[in-house]
Amino acid sequence: MKRDTGQDRSKTAYWRPATRAVRGGTWRSEQGETSEALFLTSGYSYDDAATVAARFAGDLDGMTYSRLQNPTVAMLEERIALLEGAEACRVQSTGMAAMTAALLCQLSAGDHMVSARAAFGSCRWLGDSLLPRFGVDVTVVDARDNAAWEAAIRPNTKVFFFETPANPTMDIADIEAICALARAHGITTVVDNAFCTPALQRPLEFGADVVAYSATKLMEGQGRVLAGAVCGSEAFINDKLLPFQRNTGPNLSPFNAWVVLKGLETLDLRARRQSENALEVGKFVEGRVPVILHPGLESHPQHALARKQMDACGPIFSIVLEGGREQAHAVLDALELIDISNNIGDSRSLMCHPASTTHHNMGPEGREAMGVSEGMLRINIGLEDPADLIEDLDRAFSKAGL
Ligand SMILES: *Cc1c(COP(=O)(O)O)cnc(C)c1O
Repeated sequence: MKRDTGQDRSKTAYWRPATRAVRGGTWRSEQGETSEALFLTSGYSYDDAATVAARFAGDLDGMTYSRLQNPTVAMLEERIALLEGAEACRVQSTGMAAMTAALLCQLSAGDHMVSARAAFGSCRWLGDSLLPRFGVDVTVVDARDNAAWEAAIRPNTKVFFFETPANPTMDIADIEAICALARAHGITTVVDNAFCTPALQRPLEFGADVVAYSATKLMEGQGRVLAGAVCGSEAFINDKLLPFQRNTGPNLSPFNAWVVLKGLETLDLRARRQSENALEVGKFVEGRVPVILHPGLESHPQHALARKQMDACGPIFSIVLEGGREQAHAVLDALELIDISNNIGDSRSLMCHPASTTHHNMGPEGREAMGVSEGMLRINIGLEDPADLIEDLDRAFSKAGL
């Protein structure tokens, strides 16, 4: 069954990242369209019965049904795989569909998973609530502590699951050390790389096995659609992920795939400029609030590790105010330019209070264990002029008594 876009990897693999982001995976119909075509079709028709039989038997390349293959979706999958430096990629309807598929496709009752304590709320829910219902034991560790990962390993440990930087504490996990440990024990590492995208951090280069995405964030980049992606070896994608995905159907619609394809064309530019803007705004904020957690600033306790594994430190940072929830909400309510919004990776600057939004469901104890305090605010810096963002923050901080 035809799944790739017919681009010759022996040529495209030599393209530099910015070229891959614009041209990777492009497949042209007989019309020769320059922009990727949008194939809004659920099914396909065939010249004769023998053709469809051969496609279903796997003897002939070609599409059969859009839960299995779609040309627009295949273009996106090839582009992301090229950017990631992965053998293969499959995309899903949301980041959470991607995380769920990446874990459920390889775990069975009786297995054990070790996962990072600081993580996106729904990622924690998978380990805390979903997997245990199906007989998978989960141990949660402080992802910054390499010895804690090692101590958590059991004979039945199958997966290590973490994100770095973590949402919203900005903890950095040492990808190379954790993946080396996993490899030595035959454990598969699944890294949620949503905060960075391959433009800023490529976990496969540091030994990760599987990289999973919320492509809703920096990949798509303009806050329009939800999407997810899982990248890995041909063996992992074909033997583990595909049987799960084809039969459970967490597919991405061709329209949303097309929007993400367009977003990827500007990924390199956006990721770099937003990282620069975030550093400029972060330097201002550093002199204005008691605590800022920004891996690009020397004040971050893991700045050196961040520099080692990230090309630039991304658009997101967090701050912690002494006045708790009241002061954090006061800052949000005083903003005039930056939006109150819990999304990230958008070209617009957005700010949210994790304790009352994204991490609300974890409860006060869960939040405390994870380091999400009542005075924490998470900020996504967009493509606006940093001087305007600094003015907006300065005014909001003053109004909130800072
Ligand atoms: C947003 C996010 C997710 C979930 O992605 P959706 O596209 O919203 O389903 C998972 N992990 C991280 C780190 C995220 O930021």
